[in-house]
Amino acid sequence: MQGKVIIFSAPSGSGKSTIINWLMQEHKELNLAFSISCTSRQPRGTEKDGVEYFFVTPEEFRKRIADEEFLEYEEVYADRFYGTLKAQVEKQLAKGENVVLDVDVKGGCNIKKFYGDKALSVFIQPPSIEELRNRLNGRGTDAPEVIEDRIKRAEFELSFAPKFDCVVVNDDLKNAQQKALETIADFLNK
Ligand code: ADP
Ligand code: 5GP
Repeated sequence: MQGKVIIFSAPSGSGKSTIINWLMQEHKELNLAFSISCTSRQPRGTEKDGVEYFFVTPEEFRKRIADEEFLEYEEVYADRFYGTLKAQVEKQLAKGENVVLDVDVKGGCNIKKFYGDKALSVFIQPPSIEELRNRLNGRGTDAPEVIEDRIKRAEFELSFAPKFDCVVVNDDLKNAQQKALETIADFLNK
């Protein structure tokens, strides 16, 4: 049986990766598989090519656009492209895995439209912009100007929340993890 699609979107720093990693590590029964996107940004911290992303140059990214390798792609920040690789997702779905996508809000809405009822879209909402700034500073992986780019974009991204199937407010992490778990388990059992 083909797997289903679970889309996560949120302003950067909301805690999306923290929640996704917890679901994947602690809830193997969900049979989740992460779809590795392609990006033209530089790796940060301990990120490795082929683990968090496939890291390519902007030129290589543009070539892949021309070759129609992407299900969707966005220039999320100036000259920083991110895209979902068609071949990745289709291969995982065919194996019966439930594919987890971590994409920006526009990509999230496009993928939901594409997969319809086969997809659940989840929006992770930070308690406030101030808390978002604190988390990005606390994470310590981005330069101050990159953090400012991310904060500037956050208000625009927050306006997309009502378009998602479900909104999880990540104030207390444990509560947010439980809410995400229950929603996803319900969706997969439907
Ligand atoms: P995203 O993937 O959305 O960019 P991360 O998962 O990297 O965000 O989280 C950003 C930072 O906030 C990390 O340092 C993470 O440990 C921290 N964080 C995540 N959830 C919470 C929470 N509920 N309360 C406080 N800090 C959190
Ligand atoms: P980061 O630089 O923090 O890893 O990601 C920045 C933003 O790009 C996040 O909102 C993340 O969800 C988004 N993103 C990552 N991969 C993709 C993708 O394949 N497509 C789209 N549209 N956005 C993506």
